[in-house]
Amino acid sequence: MTDTRRVLDDLRELAAMTSDDDGAQRVAWGPMWRRARAWFAEKAGALGWRPELDEAGNAWLTVPGQSTRSVVLGSHLDSVPNGGWLDGALGVLAALEALRVHGSTPSPVTLRLVDWADEEGRFGLSLLGSSAAAGRIDLAAARAASDRSGIRLVDALAENDLVVDDLPSARRHVQLLDGRAYLELHIEQGPVLASLNAPAGVVVGTFGVERHLLRFTGQAAHAGSTPLHLRRDAFLAAAETALACRAAAQRLVAEGTPTVCTTGFVSAHPNIATAIPGVCEISIDQRSMNPQALAAMVADARAAADRCAATNRVGVEWRRLWGIEPRAFDPGLVSLCEEAVREETGQAPRLPSGPVHDATEVMALMPAAMMFAASPNGLSHCKEEDTPEPILEEAIRAYVRLVGKTIAYVADS
Ligand SMILES: [Zn+2]
Repeated sequence: MTDTRRVLDDLRELAAMTSDDDGAQRVAWGPMWRRARAWFAEKAGALGWRPELDEAGNAWLTVPGQSTRSVVLGSHLDSVPNGGWLDGALGVLAALEALRVHGSTPSPVTLRLVDWADEEGRFGLSLLGSSAAAGRIDLAAARAASDRSGIRLVDALAENDLVVDDLPSARRHVQLLDGRAYLELHIEQGPVLASLNAPAGVVVGTFGVERHLLRFTGQAAHAGSTPLHLRRDAFLAAAETALACRAAAQRLVAEGTPTVCTTGFVSAHPNIATAIPGVCEISIDQRSMNPQALAAMVADARAAADRCAATNRVGVEWRRLWGIEPRAFDPGLVSLCEEAVREETGQAPRLPSGPVHDATEVMALMPAAMMFAASPNGLSHCKEEDTPEPILEEAIRAYVRLVGKTIAYVADS
């Protein structure tokens, strides 16, 4: 029997142990994250399961069954700085509950739980652990990566007894697992399910992402002495580009293609009130389930940046920060997810995921599917992230039910 109270108690305990007044502080590779993992290892140990680390720091529990065919359950214990109590942690602790329910008597298949390392991309490389396992890690980027305070990934890994050049070997580890299905429960981190009054939803796939850094270079000059028509204002070129990118995304939405576009990072130099910005960097993050739409958005953004640079008499350079193509989840597992959500909650809305998740990378390794729990306030990556307990309980029950259905499905296949 699924005991949702256990999962909620675990989540509260973890949050109390790893949060401060600003939210969760389980930043990958750091002391609070290690504490969270040690706590989790203790929980699992009490049930007789010991986590093993692969070369990318992903932590695996194995509950052997009557067959080596595996059903893999996972998510991540790491958080962004000042993060929420549910992002990632809900998936790991609901997976532990699924192991308690389905692994206590010998299962027809092997059950595995994975806590992926550095899902949040502390070093600018999102899904670090799962992308390494999927054979998609950019080793050159990983060798050169550092976080916002200048700490190098190489050193953070070393502190955790890992070696950057060994990251790709995580793939071999996972290939030996005979994984037949991967299931992840995650909070939606957006307002869609709540707007439908649905506690849980069926994720059809994850948006493709194109993330670029644009550097506009003009000329810094005195804010009082330089007439408007003689300026080379890098910030204005950047701002006009950001607005043009939003307009391009809005056109696609109006045509019925869900897309989003965000300028989340802005840095202007010299960044003082009395000088025209001579240099301005912005990020452009564009997402869609439709590959053609995504490509069109990037082309539009490039044209807009050139145009806005020209009218402001500045230069512009592009650097691609990160990207992933749109990916649809496995149709068979998506139907099982739909059944489980409907049986538990009476409805089963389907929706794409705007955020990428570890499940996106796992699709390269085995069939995968995801379930969302509603995020009624639509907030995540902040301490205000919250979902009322009755909603979490419905989602957890639906997830454990999905695991049961998937075990039977893999056993019969
Ligand atoms: Zn997450």
